Amino acid sequence: MITAAVLEPYFRAPDPKVSFEARYPEQDNFPKFPWFFAGRKLSQQLTLAPLLEDISTERLRQSVEDLVKFNNRYYRSSTGRASLIAYAEKFKAIAKDRPDIEVILQEHVSADAPRVQPSLIVRLKGRDALASEHIVVGTPADCINSVTGMANVNDPCPGADDNASGMAVILEAFRILVENDIRPLRTLEFMAYAGEELGLIGSHYVSESYRLEGTDVKAVLQLEGTMYPGAEPKIALVSDFTHPEISAFLGQLVTTYLDVPFVMSACGYGCSDHAAWRQRGFPVGFPYSETIGKDNPYAHTPQDTIDRISFEHGKRFTRLTLAFLLELAMHR
Ligand SMILES: [Zn+2]
Repeated sequence: MITAAVLEPYFRAPDPKVSFEARYPEQDNFPKFPWFFAGRKLSQQLTLAPLLEDISTERLRQSVEDLVKFNNRYYRSSTGRASLIAYAEKFKAIAKDRPDIEVILQEHVSADAPRVQPSLIVRLKGRDALASEHIVVGTPADCINSVTGMANVNDPCPGADDNASGMAVILEAFRILVENDIRPLRTLEFMAYAGEELGLIGSHYVSESYRLEGTDVKAVLQLEGTMYPGAEPKIALVSDFTHPEISAFLGQLVTTYLDVPFVMSACGYGCSDHAAWRQRGFPVGFPYSETIGKDNPYAHTPQDTIDRISFEHGKRFTRLTLAFLLELAMHR
């Protein structure tokens, strides 16, 4: 998650004397999305059952290990760039030569700063007329060491939970869909956003591009910090800068497909990439690993290491991601 101080240039600083609605009046203009969510019965249990069985904690572990091997994945470091390119190669290896899958590295700077991290966009195209409707799952691609503030781009930043964990989850969800030859009706997109910790750089860029192009994004899932379960495993649904109908839908998915309860929890500011999508009116939800305030105390430190995370919790988020994508993408 990005800290409130860094975000201040992008979102107004919270003033506790002013109500949330007064602080963020764009909430009032937020479009209503009766498109899918209200009162709908889930319908993909039979398709999902074998896919959920296929989720591998070993593969989640391998993905996290491969990411934390980089000394850091800081936006401005050469390893931040190299780690994202290596991660993109894994998507390409899974996709092989399928013509309905695109793997795109989206640069955010001109050629005079070639070492800066790009964002990754992986598109699994839908079929017939519904292919123009998109369902997005995205996650930060970078990390930061707040102890040093990354004054030196060689400072260590393992970022196992924040956020190799989210990257591992979307890679595993993508693998399962492709290897089980799932052909969605709607287009599914898997995104890793550059520079989340430095001002939601990648997600602002992508969501603004989609707004300008008029891309029909039906729903966005934000994942970040998926493997720190705290004392009592649960799913914390972030209740601010998200869309309430998506949160309600996520609650329904947790109750149906997971073995833990959900709680609602507020950041108090636009603490991750969901805020960039919501600012532009796209419906977004953000399930998080633990109630905010009781969440991972090692985030942004050199102690955010692989021995402090739970792959069982990561498996829950992979289940939730697969359920979110299929329940939204497979029906007419
Ligand atoms: Zn963070």
